[in-house]
Parts: sequence; structure tokens; C-alpha cells
Amino acid sequence: MKSTDTIAAIATALGESGIGIIRISGEDAISIADKIYSGKQSLMELGSHTINYGHIFFEDEIIDEVLVMLMKSPRTFTGEDTVEINCHGGILILEKILHAVLESGARMALPGEFTKRAFLNGKMDLSQAEAVIDIIEAKNDLALKAGIRQLNGALTESIKTIRAQILEQIAFIEAALDDPEHYSMDGYSNKLRKIVKKIIGRIEYLKKSFKDGSIIKEGINTVIIGKPNAGKSSILNLLSRTDRAIVTDIAGTTRDTLTENIKLSGISLNITDTAGIRQTDDVVESIGVKKAIEASNSADLNLVVIDGLKPIDKEDIELLETVKDKNAIILINKSDKELKVGIEDIKKYSNKDIIIFSAKENIGVDELEDMIKAKFISKEINFNDQVIITNIRHQEIINETLESMEMCISSIDEGYEEDFFTIDLLNAYEALGEIIGETVDDDVVNEIFSKFCMGK
Ligand code: GDP
Repeated sequence: MKSTDTIAAIATALGESGIGIIRISGEDAISIADKIYSGKQSLMELGSHTINYGHIFFEDEIIDEVLVMLMKSPRTFTGEDTVEINCHGGILILEKILHAVLESGARMALPGEFTKRAFLNGKMDLSQAEAVIDIIEAKNDLALKAGIRQLNGALTESIKTIRAQILEQIAFIEAALDDPEHYSMDGYSNKLRKIVKKIIGRIEYLKKSFKDGSIIKEGINTVIIGKPNAGKSSILNLLSRTDRAIVTDIAGTTRDTLTENIKLSGISLNITDTAGIRQTDDVVESIGVKKAIEASNSADLNLVVIDGLKPIDKEDIELLETVKDKNAIILINKSDKELKVGIEDIKKYSNKDIIIFSAKENIGVDELEDMIKAKFISKEINFNDQVIITNIRHQEIINETLESMEMCISSIDEGYEEDFFTIDLLNAYEALGEIIGETVDDDVVNEIFSKFCMGK
């Protein structure tokens, strides 16, 4: 399945910037680049891992002054000969150089094809390749940390250890069945039961880590609800520190919903600001209200904003009722002025956590961050040194593995013949192999790499 043709793509974002990079990888990468390069020496004569100053020209015209990075197989990202042309970061220059490279014999790379080659050439396994996307897409520190750990092989190691333990048992059962004179099965099922139980514990931990993993990767879907003028837009602005949401004094100006990704310390909130929830005859406004309730229903977290300068009324109580069975935090806003609403007033109607808040004076934000973290990130998960599952593909495989291991326990408990155990053990072994890409269909591999960006 090894590819021999040479691929090329623009590896940096298409926009004006200081530098731009065109990446070429494959057997002919160096000779292709050499056709359009003019420097002190031909690229063909230069050593690996060198940076070389020169010019790129095509059809007798100089396109740009460049630095060419030359890296010979196998010590490269893809494992193949690789050339990276560092040019000035203009869209036209990048496109012209890419055109010259393609005209000289390379083919346009597909999205993710460089990383796919790295995988096919054994430079990284599938979970590490997936970590490359996670790192590029990371929206906060914890997501980045989890991605880097996965790229460094933390998940790979964990999966390989479990697979080795399973394989050892499969091998023993096979050997004992083939050669009963030398291998005794006496008491084996008890021993196997203990081993499988231990492995189940480890897999259950991985399964549990996905809850936190998906939260840090995807963010917490959050809605801010409250009566018009309670301060929802102001709170959104405070948290995002931008002025994207419209803040006005007229009741009901936040007509539609808008979502913003907001980075708190370590985790992200995908915040939807909604129209104030209230009974209304205004058509535009009522569409907003309906959306607000819908958004609230599907949110992971509701931030309920109470206007602290007005005694709570029927509408506030209705709102508190709406979030009764949901994950919610109540913010009594405008505490920079004398409040007419106290914690006790809210407690009559709600048993949710309450924070005295002020969007204007930045009061209560730290408490809010701490409260959100405590609600969503379990204390057992340590992001510094534990493996965390952040990928839904991995999570599905983990569930499948768990099922097979549990079936193995049932087979043991029901006193089945030993060769039955092998079936379940083998299923678990193969399933886990899919995470690292040892036992995986081409379709799955193609699907994974198609999600990459161009030039990666
Ligand atoms: P929304 O309709 O719920 O989105 O409310 P806005 O964010 O538009 O705020 C309505 C009014 O309340 C504006 O005049 C804000 O300046 C004011 N406001 C918002 N938060 C605070 C606060 O913490 N303290 C004070 N004093 N006024 C606030």
C-alpha cells in the first residue's frame, strides 16, 4: 500500500503572512524541487536536514527568494524524502510556486495525505495521526495537552499494554489445548477471571475518561437565559471579552441566538445567547423565545441571569422552573448596585447553585469558572499524566472491547470450555487494534484522513 508518487501542497494558511510553506513529499521530491530551484548548489548534491538559500524560478521567471528545507528519508514526518519551500507568505506567490512544483512532476496532495503517508510508513500509528488533527483544532489548553500526550504515544502505550496482556492469555489457551501434557489448565479459569477483571478495570477507566475528554475537546454547550435586560448580553461580552453581542437598554433586542466559543481557564464554553424568555406578542421576539427554550433543553449547562435590581417576579420563577431538572447555575446580576434579590429569595424556588454576579464590575467570574470546572471535570482525571479518550471512534471501540471482556467473564462463570474464552479475548484484542490502526479497514483510514486540512 506504500505510495511512490510525489505529492505537494501549500502547508500554511492561505492569507497574507510573513512566510508561507509549500511541502513536497515522495521519491522524487528533491529532484522535482531542484528543477525550479537555483542556489549555490543543486539540491541533489546537498545533505539531509539542511536549509538552503536560493530562488524559485519557472519558465525563466524568478518567482520568489526562498529558503528550501531538505530532509531525506527516513528521518522525516512522512518517512519519505521531503522538501519544504519557505517563501514569502502571499497567496499569489504560494499558488505560483505550487503550480511550478506540480508542472515539474508532483501531484496535488489530498487533505491529510502527508499524515496518511506518515501512518502508512510506520512513522506514527492511527491514534497518533488522529492526535495531529486534535492539536490543530485544539480550542483550549487541556485539549491541546491531551492531543500532545496522544501524539507522544500515551494512548498507544496503554492500548499496547492491554493487548499484550490479552494476547498472552490467548497464547496460553492455544498452547494448552495443543499440548495438554506440558500445560495444565487446572485452576486456569480462576486465574483468567482475575486477569480479565483487572483489564476490565483499566478499560472502564478509559471509558470514563471520555466524558471529560469530550468536554475538553468539544466544549460545554451553554445557554444564557433570563428576562430581557437582566444582563445576558453583558455577561456574554464579559466572558468573551469582545463586543460581538449587541447590548442595549431596550427590552428584547437580542432577537436571535448567536453562539460563541469562549475559553475559560482550561475548558471551553460554546455559549448561545438567547432572547429573553417571556410571553410576547411580537412575532420576531417570540421566535427568539422559542429558540431560547429549545436551546436550553439541549444545553449541557444553563446560566440563568436574574436582574438583581428588581424583585423577582412571575417570569423569573418560570425560568427557575424551566431549569429545575437541568444543569444550571443562577447568577444574580448587577450586584455593583444595591440588590433587591438575595440568595434566600432564589432558594425558595430553586436548589441550584447561586452566584452574586456583576457583569459591569466583573464580580463572580472566578467563582463561576470554578463552579463550572467542578461540575464538568471529575476530580479523578488528572490531565498531566493519565490517558484520556477524546475521540468518539476510540470510545466506540472501548465499549466494544468492554462487551467482549464481559462476555469472557460470563463464559468463565458459566463453566464453558476454554476455547470459548479465546473467541471473546480475540474480539477484544482485534477491537483494540483498531484504535492504533493495526487491524483497521481502509475505509476507516480514508475517512479519518479526509477530515484533515490541505497540506497536513
Ligand atoms: P439582556 O437583555 O439580558 O441581554 O441585557 P443587557 O446585557 O442588554 O443589559 C441590559 C442593561 O443592564 C444594560 O443597560 C446594561 O448596561 C445593564 N447591565 C448589565 N449588567 C449589569 C451589571 O452587572 N450592573 C449594572 N449596574 N448594569 C448592568
